[in-house]
Amino acid sequence: MKTLDIAVIPGDGIGKEVVPEALRVLDAIEQVHGGLKFNYTHYPWSCEYYIETGKMMPDDGLEQLSSFDAIFLGAVGDPTLVPDHVSLGGLLLKIRRGFEQVINVRPAKMLKGLVSPLRDPKDFDIMIVRENSEGEYSSIGGRVHSGMDEVVVQNAVFTKKGVSRVMEYGFDIAGKRGGHLTSATKSNGIAHSMPFWDEVFKEMAENYPDIRTRSEHIDALSAFFVTKPETLDVVVASNLFGDILSDIGAAIMGSIGIAPAGNINLNGKFPSMFEPVHGSAPDIYGKGIANPIGQIWTAKMMLDHLGEMEMGAIVLAAIEETLESGIKTGDIGGSSNTAEVTDAIIASIQKHA
Ligand code: ATP
Ligand code: MG
Repeated sequence: MKTLDIAVIPGDGIGKEVVPEALRVLDAIEQVHGGLKFNYTHYPWSCEYYIETGKMMPDDGLEQLSSFDAIFLGAVGDPTLVPDHVSLGGLLLKIRRGFEQVINVRPAKMLKGLVSPLRDPKDFDIMIVRENSEGEYSSIGGRVHSGMDEVVVQNAVFTKKGVSRVMEYGFDIAGKRGGHLTSATKSNGIAHSMPFWDEVFKEMAENYPDIRTRSEHIDALSAFFVTKPETLDVVVASNLFGDILSDIGAAIMGSIGIAPAGNINLNGKFPSMFEPVHGSAPDIYGKGIANPIGQIWTAKMMLDHLGEMEMGAIVLAAIEETLESGIKTGDIGGSSNTAEVTDAIIASIQKHA
């Protein structure tokens, strides 16, 4: 029996609704597999936890999480209780930074049965590899003067190590997919960081002579997501550019409620963390209508990461079969509720077992 220890953090809002749904799907996978056992440990760390304790997680939170095989997270943030910078900073970013989860992988792929705003999205299958630890999202900078004299400086930080490792990951994924790699740049407008980014990309490409490469400016690339998605495969991008591209990807799939993501630790010292792209969606929380597919597809990514690719494929096929049968939540044009969608996915898994 293969046992996998999973730390489960539902977090806030619809995270508390969709995480249990994804765990129901993993239960079904356990049954189908026969030789696999998930050992869950649940953590209540969230904005409510902050209200009770004054912290998003205990001081030894990272220590508690460090020996798990993976972390399965819902969503963090409830601005009515705790400002976002406190909640995200105190939990999500602490885990991402503390566990050196330097890569954020976000697939954007047109599943069967989804309705896209694109006319002909059948070739839409892009893997976004986003730098997750540096770049434009830095706290270096400041403000001076006031009134009309006020000046604000925001610095971006790009290190050779950081850029090299995200690109290496991009090349590796492109190799595994038998595909090609596009780098998101803006070296015609950004004077220092992006020419450096291009330089490292070119250098790295020499190690992968079999992988076709291409560099596109972020503005043109954003347009290509919509106009020529079939020309894209794996896209490697900085923190900010990757964030924006993955939202475009989610929009093309039809809803942010679908989009999965993984925060990957590369050095094997700490667990990786799997969380959907969407947030806590306070506007729909408590109604039982949240789309569980983002969280369930995220569980599929976690299965792949833990070496259970066959099980991952079963989950994705079940999601597609469910969508094709018309069992969908409101955000993608259906009228089913959260539990009905999960039930259909589980039934599909059991049917094909
Ligand atoms: P973040 O927490 O990343 O800052 P946010 O709070 O801006 O994100 P979300 O919480 O992702 O945004 O919600 C954005 C919109 O998408 C909301 O209208 C929300 O209802 C909708 N949404 C998000 N996730 C889902 C889902 N799983 N199912 C249905 N609708 C969703
Ligand atoms: Mg939010």
